[in-house]
Amino acid sequence: MASDAIVVGGGVAGLVAARRLALGGRRVVLLERSDHLGGQVVALPIAGVDLDAAAESYATRGGAVAALAAELGLGDDLVTPTPAPAWLHRADGTAVPLPATGVLGIPGHPLAPDVVRAIGRPAALRAWADRLLPRRRGADAASLDDLVRARMGAGVADGLVAPIVRGVHSKEPRDLTVDTASPRLRAELAARGSLAGAVRALRAQAPAGSQVGGIRGGMHRLVTALARDAERLGVDIRTGVDIGRVTADAVEADGERLVGTVVRAFAEPADDQRRLTLVTLVLEAPALDAAPRGTGLLVAAGAPGIRARALTHLTAKWAWVAEALPGRHAVRLSYDGDPADPVGQATRDAATLLGVRIDSVLDSAVRTWDRGVRTPDDDIVSVGEGAAGTGLASVVAQAERTAAEVLTAG
Ligand SMILES: Cc1cc2nc3c(=O)[nH]c(=O)nc-3n(C[C@H](O)[C@H](O)[C@H](O)COP(=O)(O)OP(=O)(O)OC[C@H]3O[C@@H](n4cnc5c(N)ncnc54)[C@H](O)[C@@H]3O)c2cc1C
Repeated sequence: MASDAIVVGGGVAGLVAARRLALGGRRVVLLERSDHLGGQVVALPIAGVDLDAAAESYATRGGAVAALAAELGLGDDLVTPTPAPAWLHRADGTAVPLPATGVLGIPGHPLAPDVVRAIGRPAALRAWADRLLPRRRGADAASLDDLVRARMGAGVADGLVAPIVRGVHSKEPRDLTVDTASPRLRAELAARGSLAGAVRALRAQAPAGSQVGGIRGGMHRLVTALARDAERLGVDIRTGVDIGRVTADAVEADGERLVGTVVRAFAEPADDQRRLTLVTLVLEAPALDAAPRGTGLLVAAGAPGIRARALTHLTAKWAWVAEALPGRHAVRLSYDGDPADPVGQATRDAATLLGVRIDSVLDSAVRTWDRGVRTPDDDIVSVGEGAAGTGLASVVAQAERTAAEVLTAG
């Protein structure tokens, strides 16, 4: 069939690109291999409510996701999480609120009371000594772990940065390059002469307001709205397609050869993919009404008896989830790999982490995700995680940019 553009992959990136190309007047086919659209942004039906199975928020930086949602008529449903602190469950089994003025757990004010409370006075003093060190110390560190250890010591590296990086990036700090963790951190360190100074500078540059947002009813509403608008614009959306060879100007789909500008919106798995298991529980536990651990906790490595690496108290974090589950609580725990008996493990971990008795689990859902994609290195126009990096803010902005470039190229 005749088409101008063939988008392969129906996650958010593919849907954004297909819609933008159709808005630009192109005849577009979108091909999705699975039987549903959205990829990693997908509903999780539980206790009669559609929560999100993976991505449940977006970074507000850049404004691309909010602008797209507004274009799709979801502007009035953009929400921000409850401004309660997240907590840290420490290796000694106790919990403290996370220090407020950090970047990836690196404190901007190492002697602030919340930092001292989290890592103890000797470790906080060692971190403070960062300001006395030569500015070159750690400047060439390859990993975030090397940098933090060199400048602030093991207390900050193990006690604050590791649990946050594990919770946010699903990685160990030694496996995360400084530039991936925070692209401007190294330059600010060179300019300010200390890591704490660099962190304060980054915090000052961040726009006021919440760093993350969500959509009332779940991020998956973005997918429904994108698909509906793409169809309105005439995009030929096909799911359950058997995809064969993909080149820059043709795709084999269900044995048919489609010719046109190809936009690849899926990524090949990386060699070192990591499995992540998310366990969502809906609970009856009135003690949780007080949100004893704010919006949730990150867990330090070695915390006794705990296998989870993070817990999100969804009904404390999002007002819309609390409204949808009156008298009940939803929590989501994340695990590296595949825990045995995930619901039993998550119930035990939730009770310990939240410090409450859990008498009954009303409903539960377990989803696994294999994370880590390869960056494409061929001549096919590419959008999505492989080309943009992880996260909806990056993925949406890059898909919009790439579609605009395809339209300009003619
Ligand atoms: C557990 C988890 C939590 C997350 N939390 C957040 C969060 O809170 N905030 C945030 O911003 N981001 C979060 N993310 C990341 C975010 O969801 C992704 O970065 C984003 O959704 C990627 O979109 P994409 O379209 O590039 O890829 P995908 O969503 O992976 O879509 C790719 C699509 O291509 C299809 N496909 C694959 N191969 C082929 C093929 N050969 N032919 C045709 N189709 C194919 C797939 O079925 C899929 O539908 C999270 C991810 C996970 C897994």
